Amino acid sequence: MATAGDPQLVLDARAQLGEGAIWNDARQRLHWIDINGWRVFTYDPATGENHPGNVGQTVGTVVPRAGGGLMLALHEGFARFDPDTGRVTLLPRPPEHDPALVRFNDGKCDPAGRFWAGTMALVKGPKPLGRLHRLDADGTMHVMLRDVGTSNGIAWSLDRRTMYYIDTPLLRVDAFDYDDATGAIGNRRTVITIPPDIGRPDGSTLDAEGMLWIAMYNGWSVTRWNPLTGERLQTIRLPVARVTSCAFGGPDLDTLYLTSARTGLTDEQLAAQPLAGGLFQVKPGVRGVRAPAYQG
Ligand code: CA
Repeated sequence: MATAGDPQLVLDARAQLGEGAIWNDARQRLHWIDINGWRVFTYDPATGENHPGNVGQTVGTVVPRAGGGLMLALHEGFARFDPDTGRVTLLPRPPEHDPALVRFNDGKCDPAGRFWAGTMALVKGPKPLGRLHRLDADGTMHVMLRDVGTSNGIAWSLDRRTMYYIDTPLLRVDAFDYDDATGAIGNRRTVITIPPDIGRPDGSTLDAEGMLWIAMYNGWSVTRWNPLTGERLQTIRLPVARVTSCAFGGPDLDTLYLTSARTGLTDEQLAAQPLAGGLFQVKPGVRGVRAPAYQG
C-alpha cells in the first residue's frame, strides 16, 4: 500500500466539537458539524467555501438525503435540513428517546439507505442510557440497541452483510450480522479491541479494501484496522489530540477528511495544539467508498 502524506489543515475552524464528516457525492461537497456549536457546515473543496447553518440545538450527525437536502440527528430526534435556506423540519420523537436524559450523537446510512443514529447520556451516570435508533425510508423508527454508553462510529462491510459499531467507552469495535433487505442485526461479537493508551475510538469509515478507519479521540491520530483479524494496520498522526470523525471524499474518494475538537481542553493544552477544532485532510494511499444517502 502507498504511504500516507502528511495531514494538512483545510480549515482553521476552531470548532468546539467538530464531528460528522461525510462526503456528499451527488453535490461533491463535504458536510461536517460542530455538535456544541449547533452548526452544520457544507464545505466545497473546489472554492474553499465553508457554508454554515445554525440548526438551533446540538446536532449529532448529518447525512445526505436522496430526495435533496440533508438529514440530521438533532438533540431531540431526526430532522430534515435544507442547507440552502436553513430550514429545519423535526420528525416525530423517536421511541424511547428522552431528550432530558440523552442527546443524539454519531450515525450514518446503511447500504439500503436507512438512517441509523445513536444517543448518549447528557450526564455521565452508572447506567448506559443510550440507544441505537434506525429511521427507515418509510419514516418508521426502530430501537435497535439499548444500554449504549456513547454511540459512535458505524459502518457496513462491502458485501453488505456486516455492521461495525463503536460504543466508545467499551474501547472496541463490535460486528453484527446485518440483513440488507430488512435492516435486522444480530450475532454481536467483538472484532477489534482498542488498547487504552492509543485514545478512544470515535467516528469510523470503511475504505475500498474493506478496512476500517477510526478517529482516535485523545489519541492524536486516525488509525486503520483489519476488522477480519483485529490487527491495526496504520496510524496517521495529527497535530490535535481530539480527532473525532473521518470520511473519504473528493472526486476520486482518495482524500480522508478529519474533524477535531477543542472542547474540554485547558488553555495550556490549547496552546500546545492551536489547530484543535480544525478540519484536516490526508491522502492515505487508499480510496473510500460512497456514503449512502437516506432514501426517505
Ligand atoms: Ca463522535
